[in-house]
Amino acid sequence: MPQRIVAGNWKMHGSRAFSAGYLKSLEGGALAGLGCDVLLFPPAILLPLLSTPASDLGIELGVQTVHPEPQGAFTGELAAEMAADAGAVWTLLGHSERRQLFGESDEDVALRALAARRAGLKPMLCVGESLAERQRGDADAVVTGQLDAVLELLGDDLASGGIAYEPVWAIGSGETASPEMAQAMHSMIRGVLRRRSERLAEMPILYGGSVKPENAAALFSENDIDGALVGGASLDPAAFLAIIMAMETHGNP
Ligand code: PEP
Repeated sequence: MPQRIVAGNWKMHGSRAFSAGYLKSLEGGALAGLGCDVLLFPPAILLPLLSTPASDLGIELGVQTVHPEPQGAFTGELAAEMAADAGAVWTLLGHSERRQLFGESDEDVALRALAARRAGLKPMLCVGESLAERQRGDADAVVTGQLDAVLELLGDDLASGGIAYEPVWAIGSGETASPEMAQAMHSMIRGVLRRRSERLAEMPILYGGSVKPENAAALFSENDIDGALVGGASLDPAAFLAIIMAMETHGNP
């Protein structure tokens, strides 16, 4: 049975004061004894501050991307080794904002995945089609291509992490894929992984795209939806906690 995960992507939001208040509101046993893992992907500069209190609450931290190289003349970039040194356990890879706004190709994402594993980080590989690709009937092919590019380089080692299916048209838009639509894609992804190995087929597959407390339960009731990658709603600790509780109540056992 795949591990269940609820993950929050803060994107480029947060500060020292915000971080302290956020973790304070999760204190008091709210996260004790959960059946799912809770991850946060804050801006990397907040990792040293968050590392100890997050770990005390049982939360694992990650970064939002890593550079392929371990060091060098890459002004403004962050090596996977540095992220691990600052307290990251995970990294997002291939988030659609990285692909669209920063030009990360499937090949770049695969090289970053390799760097993540070199540094011992768990990869959370984001895949998803644009609206135009879905309307053309290319959604499955696009997502399969994004998966294959990383699987060619990493093989079974990708199984140390997770997959986040995030249809680009649902991210930050208020639009959510229906639970049935998401389940169909998750099942397709599981098939791609199973054709490679049983170990890969056991990977957690998260859904992302305007997940909120109101729609989480229906998504988590689907067989192949093992969790959520939450953007906007993860900035509100009460909403994030409500999504975690929806996973506790409605997620697959
Ligand atoms: C994301 O950033 O991964 C995401 C899914 O954002 P949102 O929940 O805001 O759509």
